[in-house]
Amino acid sequence: MKFGGTSVADLERIRNVARHVEREVKAGNEVAVVVSAMAGTTDQLVAWTREASMMHDAREYDCVVSAGEQITSGLLAITLQGMGISARSWLGWQIPMRTNDVHGAARIEGIDIEEMDRRMSEGQVAVVAGFQGVSPDGRVTTLGRGGSDTSAVALAAALRGRCDIYTDVDGVYTTDPRIVTKAQKLSRIAYEEMLEMASLGAKVLQTRSVEMAMVNQVPVQVRSSFDPPEGPFETQDHNYGPGTLVCGEEDIVEQQVVSGIAYSKDEAKVTLLKVDDKPGVAARIFGPLSSANINVDMIVQNVSEDGQRTDLTFTVADDDLQRAMAVIEEAKGDIGYQDLMGSTDVVKVSVIGIGMRSHAGVAAQMFQVLADKGINIQAITTSEIKISILIDAAYTELAVRALHSAYGLDAE
Ligand code: ADP
Ligand code: ASP
Ligand code: MG
Repeated sequence: MKFGGTSVADLERIRNVARHVEREVKAGNEVAVVVSAMAGTTDQLVAWTREASMMHDAREYDCVVSAGEQITSGLLAITLQGMGISARSWLGWQIPMRTNDVHGAARIEGIDIEEMDRRMSEGQVAVVAGFQGVSPDGRVTTLGRGGSDTSAVALAAALRGRCDIYTDVDGVYTTDPRIVTKAQKLSRIAYEEMLEMASLGAKVLQTRSVEMAMVNQVPVQVRSSFDPPEGPFETQDHNYGPGTLVCGEEDIVEQQVVSGIAYSKDEAKVTLLKVDDKPGVAARIFGPLSSANINVDMIVQNVSEDGQRTDLTFTVADDDLQRAMAVIEEAKGDIGYQDLMGSTDVVKVSVIGIGMRSHAGVAAQMFQVLADKGINIQAITTSEIKISILIDAAYTELAVRALHSAYGLDAE
């Protein structure tokens, strides 16, 4: 069981979590509970590290930002004990949850689960501080923002269990229910679609958690911690309860062409004007970016009118914009361009669905919908199961809502 920030926001919410845990214990399950920090805590901790120094040591960043989960894991263990349920807290290093040493975005390399497993089989609830691990040289690491989801899926894989993600919405929706009130809850979604949804902006699950669930075939259920903890639940899917089940494609009976729409505002656009149109230029632009560890997402290159000069646009994460601009400026002599522009007023909107593999016309429909609304498309990328476009951020909600209706996803 994993509970996110709003689900453990104060002691009353933590008592509510304890009642959900109690229900599972009474049903005869061995339970590990992963908790996030109280809502807003991690943001505050991140802000403090930046205020202390913009150029801080990433190892100390992890020392600070991992602290919120230590508090909630202890508080939940105390609360469970108070209800007569045997429980103890586990910090990342105590399990240990072993990771690499990429501080701030560490990857889990292995979990030494034996001791926790043994105690769980004796009936003790394991209350795990999410988001944190330990590096090969014994330093605290964190798994990237939203990383408690990944802690939970990794534990479920190691314990060969299922993973229930409790959050502030009652499942995965066709799009973010906060911006489209007509969004519908999906009873099931395939791992691959969820992976695209998450990586394209639907923050309901961290991308890496979905990747890990898919690789290890862990059934993940997203559900609400605001449901009454005592149950019984109205079950849409009798095996897994009332939320959304993230599962293999083969377990989905009615597959829609488009399953969902995601958007991401964490994008920035870089345009090089009048670049020499000759062999090797792209390599001279993207080589230095890759050496600087900057991920490039969408790329558009125009055909030059005179066969000599052209414009080139690409996107990066908005956090990387300043660095990307600096890298390109530094390589100006080598690349050869006239002007450089950067902007963060852009949003990436994506349409996702496994059904696209066998269905033509999804892209054409997307472009038509945007044209009808007078929204200009600045860049496009596609894969087998998704189409993403870059537009002016001011049109985010208009575009998402229009596409949601056009693909027949609106609730009645
Ligand atoms: P937690 O703190 O429990 O980890 P998050 O804030 O990380 O919760 O994720 C839940 C939020 O994800 C929801 O409140 C919702 O606004 C957002 N969200 C974005 N896209 C979707 C979607 N397609 N379905 C459900 N929720 C979504
Ligand atoms: N508390 C961490 C964060 O806010 C991890 C999580 O909530 O999953 O990113
Ligand atoms: Mg989250």
